[in-house]
Amino acid sequence: MPVQVRTTDRVDVVDVTSAVAESVPDDVDRGVCTVFVRHTTAGLVVNEAESRLLADLERALERLVPREEAYDHNAIDDNADAHVRAMLLGESVSVPVEDGALALGTWQSVLLVEGDGPRTRSLDVVVTPA
Ligand code: ZN
Repeated sequence: MPVQVRTTDRVDVVDVTSAVAESVPDDVDRGVCTVFVRHTTAGLVVNEAESRLLADLERALERLVPREEAYDHNAIDDNADAHVRAMLLGESVSVPVEDGALALGTWQSVLLVEGDGPRTRSLDVVVTPA
C-alpha cells in the first residue's frame, strides 16, 4: 500500500521521514528501505529538513532549470521544468534499517521534492531484510 503525501504548492519540499518510518516493520533487525516516488514530476532526496535550506534548494532548482524557458514538452502539459528537475533529483532513495527503524544520520530526513503541485503523491516503501 503506497504512502500518500499531499503537497501544497507548485514547488514544495515535504519531509516524509515519519510517514516512511511508519511503514518499516518492527521485526526487521537489519535491512534496506527503498522509497520510490511513482511520478515523473517529483523527486526524492535525503538531506536536512531546515526551512532556509529548503528555500535555498527551491531557488537552486529554479536557477538550474528555470520555469520560464522554451521546452518542447510544454506544448503537451506545460511542466517540462518539473520533469527535468525530477530527473536530476532521482525517483528513489535507499536508507539502511536497524532494529526496525530508519538508520538516518542526525541531520538527515527523507524529502519529497514536488515540481508540479499541489498534488497527492504516492510513495512505495519497500523494506528488504538483510
Ligand atoms: Zn508533463
